Amino acid sequence: MNYHRFDCIIVGAGGAGMMAALESSRKVGTAVVSKLYPTRSHTGAAQGGIAAALSNLEDDSWENHAYDTIKGGDYLVDQTAAEILCKEAVDCIYELEHMGLPFDRTADGRISQRRFGGHTKPNPIYDPSATPGTDAAKPRIPVMRACHAADRTGHMILQTLYQQCIKQGVTFFDEFHMLDLIMVDGECRGIVAIEIATGQLHTFHAKSVLLATGGFGRMFKTSSNAYALTGDGPAIAYRHGLPLEDMEFYQFHPTGIYRLGILLSEACRGDGGVMFNGKGERFMDVYAPNLKDLASRDVCSRSIEQELRAGRGVNGKDYVYLDIRAETINKYKTSPTGSDVDSHWVEKRLPDIIDFARTYLGVDPIKEPMPIQPTAHYAMGGVPTDVHGRVLRDTSGEVVPGLYAAGESACVSVHGANRLGTNSLVDLIVFGRRSGKDMARYALDREFQPFPANPEAPTRMAIDSLLSRPRTEPWVKLRDEMQKTMMDDCGVYRTEERLTRARDTIAGLQVRYKNLGLQDKGTVFNTNLLEVLELGCLLDLSEATVASALARKESRGAHSREDFPNRDDTQFFGHSFATKHGDGQPTVTYKNVDVITLEKDGKTTTKYPLEIRKY
Ligand SMILES: Cc1cc2nc3c(=O)[nH]c(=O)nc-3n(C[C@H](O)[C@H](O)[C@H](O)COP(=O)(O)OP(=O)(O)OC[C@H]3O[C@@H](n4cnc5c(N)ncnc54)[C@H](O)[C@@H]3O)c2cc1C
Repeated sequence: MNYHRFDCIIVGAGGAGMMAALESSRKVGTAVVSKLYPTRSHTGAAQGGIAAALSNLEDDSWENHAYDTIKGGDYLVDQTAAEILCKEAVDCIYELEHMGLPFDRTADGRISQRRFGGHTKPNPIYDPSATPGTDAAKPRIPVMRACHAADRTGHMILQTLYQQCIKQGVTFFDEFHMLDLIMVDGECRGIVAIEIATGQLHTFHAKSVLLATGGFGRMFKTSSNAYALTGDGPAIAYRHGLPLEDMEFYQFHPTGIYRLGILLSEACRGDGGVMFNGKGERFMDVYAPNLKDLASRDVCSRSIEQELRAGRGVNGKDYVYLDIRAETINKYKTSPTGSDVDSHWVEKRLPDIIDFARTYLGVDPIKEPMPIQPTAHYAMGGVPTDVHGRVLRDTSGEVVPGLYAAGESACVSVHGANRLGTNSLVDLIVFGRRSGKDMARYALDREFQPFPANPEAPTRMAIDSLLSRPRTEPWVKLRDEMQKTMMDDCGVYRTEERLTRARDTIAGLQVRYKNLGLQDKGTVFNTNLLEVLELGCLLDLSEATVASALARKESRGAHSREDFPNRDDTQFFGHSFATKHGDGQPTVTYKNVDVITLEKDGKTTTKYPLEIRKY
């Protein structure tokens, strides 16, 4: 009955999914299945920009971009993948431009670029013997690398890709929620989804399936992520015994709106904004004397936490200020060019941010600073893939035939232990495109494999059982406990004690989850049912995150263990793979980091030597 057949099925209509669909549909029949209407995907919320070394405003190179990406990820980045990202970024931007994406322009008509944290180039006047603190003493300086359309870059990307997909005849199943993968003999043959409007189950038979379901920031209490970001793709893969990579690395963005978590883009600081503590001090002077407010996100978030712990929050509360007033930018000489700006300029560069602050904070950033605190933002980890988007079965690098992943739900490992701002959007486009290409190649090479009888049966049983149980405690109670636990015990700073407590709390919630009964027993638009199913995904991902964080007894990038404050390259220079076995805790094993080596004069050296990370 509700049976559909396409060469390629793409789950998710964000930047990664639609870029892949555009590519695969050039060659083979492609359908996109999305629980949201496509242009409501979170990619549309991305603000600040997309990275590519175009050299439009100053000299830059993909090599600079790769160096920053690898250092930004605290060296846990697969270096071949990072080089692909940075090289192909340039071509991807021009492809988007040719599709009609309305980038901001320079006066002479080229794509405009702005600065972002951790994006640098070598300082031409660098002198190692110069007096510390002087310009000549800085080995690297910020570079303008982020292409943007005001502070609505993601919105423009999503609209552009959707238009192109429609033009090219991609089929869309909007508001269809994937609930299971159809795996036969270790291969992926399709998916099971529920049509939200009717409650009916549909099966999709495919030669290749892409998971592009986005992030899972809803695990945490304070998050910049939309409600739909519940990690369905990775959770479903995990339940099929597939590993999740580098889950302990979850990024906290330094500048979320106080209490609400709504993001105030790093473009604020790229364009000259400065953070201040309650004593009016520019505290990043202390933590990152060179790049200051433009240090990487993990460094800035930890610095804010340190200020709050030391009692230097504003008015004794747990927030600090982000100040983007023109007078502040001029006083500290932080504008991108160093010359003075006026409030009209700020308003033009950051219109949405200013609007958010006025609407949600009742603060006018043109006249006063904005209260901010770190907010859960981005999953560096996810479903492990190779550079063609093919999902890895285990640490040996063997791939799962027919299954692909891209975007925030995947881990091709270009972000390592900490992602640089603007590197996610470019990851979606570069690896979305590569996945789409390889999915089409794979589909062209192969016949449809036999489809199992009733592959939706386990899903139907699970739903029937949920609907038939008597109503129990409300599901939001479990969600709130999970979010609080993850925020307090698996947040910016971690310890063995807190992580152990988090592990036990999540395990307890998993047991209570199994007994949940619903309030709404209907079929039409049963959001209660879907929210409970999404909570199940978040609990599984919390379990994998905490297990990976417990296993990693070092501090690296976004994973800061107070009981193991240093990076330990002898024991932990590897990607964690968390794998579920039945109902117990997952096992955590490690895969080698891909390191590029160079041969010179009979000697082997590494292209990106491990350094102590300082900004
Ligand atoms: C507020 C904010 C600002 C950001 N700003 C920037 C920025 O300036 N630069 C940058 O590089 N990065 C930025 N990021 C990060 C970046 O936007 C995201 O990492 C990226 O957009 C994720 O894209 P995606 O294609 O992987 O998934 P998404 O765009 O999140 O899309 C996920 C898709 O999966 C679908 N889906 C999910 N589950 C299911 C299911 N079970 N069944 C069917 N469909 C499903 C959804 O319907 C949706 O279409 C920002 C993130 C946020 C939250």
